[in-house]
Amino acid sequence: MSFKKTKSVKFASCIEQRMENIIADLGILDNVDIESCETIKLLDEQNTGKARKLYIESYGCQMNYSDSEIVASILQKEGFDTTSDIAQADVVFLNTCSIREKAEQTVRQRLTQINSYKKLKPEMLVGVLGCMAERLKTKLLEEEKIVDLVAGPDAYRDLPKLIEQVDEGDKAVNTFLSREETYADITPVRLNSNGVTAFISIMRGCDNMCSFCVVPFTRGRERSRDPHSIIAEAKDLFSKGFREVTLLGQNVDSYKWSEEENNKARLEKKGTNNEVITFAKLLELVAFAHPDLRVRFSTSHPKDITDDVLYTMAKHENICKNIHLPIQSGSSRVLDLMNRDYTREWYLEKVRRLREILGEDCGISSDMIAGFCSETEEEHRETLSLMDEVVYDFAYMFYYSERPGTLAAKKFADDIPLETKKRRLDEIIIKQRLHSARRNNQDVGKTFKVLIEGYSKKTEDDLQGRTSSNKVVVFPKGNKKKGEYATVQVESCTGGTLLGKIVE
Ligand code: SAM
Ligand code: SF4
Repeated sequence: MSFKKTKSVKFASCIEQRMENIIADLGILDNVDIESCETIKLLDEQNTGKARKLYIESYGCQMNYSDSEIVASILQKEGFDTTSDIAQADVVFLNTCSIREKAEQTVRQRLTQINSYKKLKPEMLVGVLGCMAERLKTKLLEEEKIVDLVAGPDAYRDLPKLIEQVDEGDKAVNTFLSREETYADITPVRLNSNGVTAFISIMRGCDNMCSFCVVPFTRGRERSRDPHSIIAEAKDLFSKGFREVTLLGQNVDSYKWSEEENNKARLEKKGTNNEVITFAKLLELVAFAHPDLRVRFSTSHPKDITDDVLYTMAKHENICKNIHLPIQSGSSRVLDLMNRDYTREWYLEKVRRLREILGEDCGISSDMIAGFCSETEEEHRETLSLMDEVVYDFAYMFYYSERPGTLAAKKFADDIPLETKKRRLDEIIIKQRLHSARRNNQDVGKTFKVLIEGYSKKTEDDLQGRTSSNKVVVFPKGNKKKGEYATVQVESCTGGTLLGKIVE
């Protein structure tokens, strides 16, 4: 179905009302349990004749996947190839996430499955890396007998030594959190890559202390990576054919680096006479790497994103017009309990400013948590009404999962019954699906510059790429190929994809 731009909004909201009624009547999504960013990614096959084989599964956020590429790079120099077949592996690593309880349960279940491989191959070394390793430390060795090695996110340079320790018959643990480590000098091996888009980690840790979040405890204090190494990595990727980089960090807008200090807290305390590179400056420097290299970034904390960043985005065509700006809740009281440092009104003003500077087509996505401690029905409805005001293109949606050691776990009762959390989450998901469809409908009839990432999932007759605002577009391939730009006119859409034709 295709709509003309002007009619689509009215028509979509009418469809939305009907769909909301139908969904409510049928009780669809009763069991929805979307933990959208807990994907599992494997590193793929690398056969250069090295002595041992490494197999890694990455869980959780993109930072973890990016870290797995650093781990593979460190071990490549120590005589390891990677394999996508666990049965072939000498070393099996799970790079884990602790953000919600379910993420940890998934890893524990996976360890049970891995046990059956280890029974067949008792010399197989099994290691747990990342946030779960950092949170549980030696407890993980006691609770999961199959685990030989535990390494936190700042201990990856130590992996060769830890593996050696296990080879000698001991268990090995390093969960030391560094105040400086950024792995700036390590070029990640780009495995399992489409050869067009890549991630560049620009900072580590988080100083924010949102009350629900375990990240400050598992990933330590904020440190910013040397901009010279970031720009060199971007240029190197471009020379290898990549055409898009995403700058990664838990809170990219608080990136702050100077020649003598990369730890944000210390830099702010001590001050410096040297130039301080802010995120806006870094973004511009990366945009200058090459005009045909697209630049994205994630994640922005609403309290930290500045007008400077928005103007830098507006100034450079190759900085993609898309911002991930997690709200978490639409209620100012709940935001205060979450320690997010902004109110509903302040956030909406930020969105207004963003649209003023970057226009209506700029993609905006969000994260939402349903059923945080003491959240009332009225406050939940405030989240829904905020969604109506912003109309996000996309969102990751979760129900609250209490994490041991966090401020919320210490201060507040986790008092919303699970079924209420799930029902509220369902309502958020239903609304978001309708809004994503509405935002897609608004693109019908428009023309976009699309970076081609490869064939569409369904057929090699069609190509698939993304617009600057991060929408997926599928279109007949014509003479175009992966890694090139195409000008595509959108003719119709599905809930998650735009369908079009090349017009250039
Ligand atoms: N640093 C990013 C920010 O502040 O927007 C987000 C990082 S976190 C890895 C990704 C998302 O997980 C958060 O935005 C939040 O919505 C969700 N999350 C974090 N802790 C959670 C918890 N205890 N229960 C449910 N969702 C949680
Ligand atoms: Fe967690 Fe908040 Fe830091 Fe994001 S900004 S990682 S939600 S503490």
